[in-house]
Amino acid sequence: MENVLVIGGGIGGLTAAALLAKENFNVTVLEASNEWGGCAGKFTRGSYLFPAGATLGMGFESGGIHSRVFESLGMPFPHAKPLEEIMQIHFPGGSLSYKKDRKAYLKELEKLFPENMTSIESFFEEVWQIGKEVRSMLGPLPALPPKTVKEWIGAMGSLKPGTARLLPYLHAPFGKLIKKHGLEELQDFLHLLDAQLIDSMQTTAEDCSAVIGAYALSIYHDGAFYVEGGLYQIAEALQKAAENSGAEMLKRKWVTSIKKEGSTFIAADRKGQTWEADHVVCNLPLQSFLNLLDEPLKKQCSSSYKKKAPISQWGTMTLYLAIDENVLPENPPLFAQVLQSDTGDMAEGEHLFLSLSAQGDRIRAPLGIRTMTVSTHTSLDRWKTKEDYDHYKPQLKAKMMKGIKQLFPRIEEGILQELPGAPKAWERFTKRPDGMVGGFPQTLDHALFNSLSHRTGVKNLYLCGDSVFPGAGTVGVSVSGIHVYRSISGKWGGV
Ligand SMILES: Cc1cc2nc3c(=O)[nH]c(=O)nc-3n(C[C@H](O)[C@H](O)[C@H](O)COP(=O)(O)OP(=O)(O)OC[C@H]3O[C@@H](n4cnc5c(N)ncnc54)[C@H](O)[C@@H]3O)c2cc1C
Repeated sequence: MENVLVIGGGIGGLTAAALLAKENFNVTVLEASNEWGGCAGKFTRGSYLFPAGATLGMGFESGGIHSRVFESLGMPFPHAKPLEEIMQIHFPGGSLSYKKDRKAYLKELEKLFPENMTSIESFFEEVWQIGKEVRSMLGPLPALPPKTVKEWIGAMGSLKPGTARLLPYLHAPFGKLIKKHGLEELQDFLHLLDAQLIDSMQTTAEDCSAVIGAYALSIYHDGAFYVEGGLYQIAEALQKAAENSGAEMLKRKWVTSIKKEGSTFIAADRKGQTWEADHVVCNLPLQSFLNLLDEPLKKQCSSSYKKKAPISQWGTMTLYLAIDENVLPENPPLFAQVLQSDTGDMAEGEHLFLSLSAQGDRIRAPLGIRTMTVSTHTSLDRWKTKEDYDHYKPQLKAKMMKGIKQLFPRIEEGILQELPGAPKAWERFTKRPDGMVGGFPQTLDHALFNSLSHRTGVKNLYLCGDSVFPGAGTVGVSVSGIHVYRSISGKWGGV
């Protein structure tokens, strides 16, 4: 059987590794750090476990991507619990409980915007209809942009009669839908939409692709999940599945170069150890990927890869807290967003995403203690020098604490441990250049047919993860891992 080398043990790479190992490929996974899962990984401090980044689970509903992958691996995933209240959202104009049930969600919106409900209902009716068509179109997992005859056939085959409904919005920003329903002046409502889109699509309503934005505003209603312990459980389950199928899973192997001799790839790590393979799958941000290649390979990469490499991405500042639960209000939300700005700014501590461990989640903390991960988007331009760092880190942390206190006013009395994760820490932990996270924003320039393909332009060399179609989120990167699996194995069914 052919050898496949997977570089990077994030969710994208582990999905590809587990599926390929099950098909009897000789798979080796090289992970630079001491943990599986990358941005969806974890770290521990004493008796506390902190999810590094990703916390809100998706894709575990029947037919959801993670369910499909675990089913095809013959391995149930027992840790995901569905949420009826997906999150609470607090903003200067009020607060909202984001419900899974669509009608209940509209009722919540009615409390905030009683005068505008006719427009809001017609807006969501259309948004959810578009979301449904996108879901149906993407159900067979077409690889975009299609690069081979098989992928073109797959893309054409995924078109349904209802897909025609998407046509007016294929080249439109999400703002077109907002204007169509006369909601462009309703500032608090726009801020609520922006808050959803910045977390899932890395951009706001004005610039987000309409089709992808509508999908993003629909997916929580298909199901969102609390995963006991954290989403690292996905990574560890995939790692075990790959290992059980014979894959070699190696941590602390930081790959620094890839070259090709004849039809064989040779990858080397920073200690000079080398691996040979027929296929190489890189589960890395685009920029890291290009940096690994020798000049001849880099030259062969597709022009879209080279064109997108200089485009900047977001960074994140994350706070990790262990808290005595006595200082929390009764039934605190497990997931929440806090918007601090009147003008709808969505970065630099003005917008926070908070995830709290569930009461009794003993994997995360001992009884009576909760752990919390709080993140905000930050521009990497603010973290260029050591002076920038020293100056900005305490400032941003203070801003974030102010936001957290809006939700949990007594939190400072109960903090047992506090760890900040600024972009440099992210770079150290995930090896992502400068700590960039989240992939490319899903604007018209980067969504759907304008995404990067998992095919790099070099035969048998693939990229998966949040730089390529369909983008970030554990579900998105898992899909890119499936595309790699299909391309290497030639098997289209199965997942
Ligand atoms: C703060 C934050 C919150 C998020 N919240 C959510 C959420 O709630 N829900 C959700 O679904 N998604 C969320 N996401 C997004 C999600 O975590 C990511 O999109 C996804 O995990 C990225 O996976 P990936 O496959 O691209 O790989 P990555 O996570 O980037 O992992 C790549 C792996 O490769 C390793 N590596 C890198 N370079 C090398 C090398 N040279 N050699 C060997 N190994 C290497 C790294 O150590 C890492 O383990 C969040 C992201 C962040 C940053």
